[in-house]
Amino acid sequence: MARIELKNIVKKYGDGFPAVNDVSLDIADGEFVILVGPSGCGKSTLLRMIVGLEDISEGDLLIDGKRVNDLAPRDRDLSMVFQNYALYPHLTVRENIAFPMTLAKGKLDRAQIDQRVQRAADMLELHEHLDRKPANLSGGQRQRVAMGRAIVRDAKAFLFDEPLSNLDAKLRGQMRTEIARMQRSLGTTTVYVTHDQTEAMTLGDRVAVLRKGVLQQVASPRELYEQPVNLFVAGFIGAPPMNFLPARVAGDRLQLPFCEVPAPAVVRDGGHEGKLLIAGVRPEHFDDAEVTDVPEGAVSFEAQVDVTEWLGNELYAYVPFEAAAETKEQLEQLDRELDGESLRSQLVVTLDAMSSIVGGDTARLWFHPRRMHVFDPSTGENLTRDEEQARKLAEQSEKLRRRSLERAQAQNEDRVSA
Ligand code: ATP
Repeated sequence: MARIELKNIVKKYGDGFPAVNDVSLDIADGEFVILVGPSGCGKSTLLRMIVGLEDISEGDLLIDGKRVNDLAPRDRDLSMVFQNYALYPHLTVRENIAFPMTLAKGKLDRAQIDQRVQRAADMLELHEHLDRKPANLSGGQRQRVAMGRAIVRDAKAFLFDEPLSNLDAKLRGQMRTEIARMQRSLGTTTVYVTHDQTEAMTLGDRVAVLRKGVLQQVASPRELYEQPVNLFVAGFIGAPPMNFLPARVAGDRLQLPFCEVPAPAVVRDGGHEGKLLIAGVRPEHFDDAEVTDVPEGAVSFEAQVDVTEWLGNELYAYVPFEAAAETKEQLEQLDRELDGESLRSQLVVTLDAMSSIVGGDTARLWFHPRRMHVFDPSTGENLTRDEEQARKLAEQSEKLRRRSLERAQAQNEDRVSA
């Protein structure tokens, strides 16, 4: 187990372009941290620098307080799981899992190695496959063998590079739960790279969001979701993504495409009069006024619905709007960066499955303006981020992390002593 500290880490490849630019991150002992961001944001490069497969151009990498920039990968005591499994085809599952232990000659005897292989096989349900070769396994089973091989070592930390991206959606979901369970019960510091925001949100104690090599925000999933620092994080986290709407400041009001809402105090008092800002409202924060009454303080409006999709548990409705040219370009640029497929000039709302709205209807929708964020289009900054609330969320998530780690470890001790 280990604490991993990244201090002002920079990576410049041959052309001098910083693929990772001044990243600082302090990963606590036993913590599960996700590096996430769109393709090319530098997350794999960062992971490879931690494990030692890539040189660090500038900055310091510390493991348990010791600077390890110049230490060879094998001397860092970290265990990595790759996207493509990297199993030895001529060895059985048992031999593949045991391989790292047989490499460390003399450290463990035969019986100890067997015991650890059994334990990994228990944890990952691999018993019936132990004598098979990787070629005869499914993708999910191979990935479990790769994880087994990573966990049998006494590694200080686990590093995962997109381990689930070759699996189908159902298996990805199952493996996600297994990884979460395994990490909790072992309590080993874990750094996990993914471009999938669902994986990031469900697995991470904290999630570090990268954009073009620069760390945007590192926070618990809940804080990222509720209190994003900027447009980029707000647009990356959440599916369907947050709606971004042009918002013109007029006195103490904000004019949106469908309605007017009271301007939040920071916007009203921030010298933005007449300016065009960007309002962000999550799809699930809208409701159908025919299904649920409009509560006190909410704002309702009528809108022409283009298309609906009924999914059984909820209903998506798409509502096109005209975006002013000033914001349109910025939103299209953001969409490209986020690898987005959504058209930014339509509102996506997630409604109760009871809603009977169909394409072509004029619907009455409502939302709470207090759930809306307001962004400065020139800097992307979230003007309405509530620092006090963010601090509380961070405190709460750290408390929950410790509690769940302690519980898992107590269960482990019970199991050992039983
Ligand atoms: P992906 O999800 O597509 O793997 P990523 O976020 O992991 O993306 P990296 O692979 O870390 O991104 O790459 C970050 C940037 O560094 C990219 O612009 C990439 O083109 C560049 N890069 C990566 N490896 C090299 C290399 N060996 N030489 C030069 N540039 C590189």
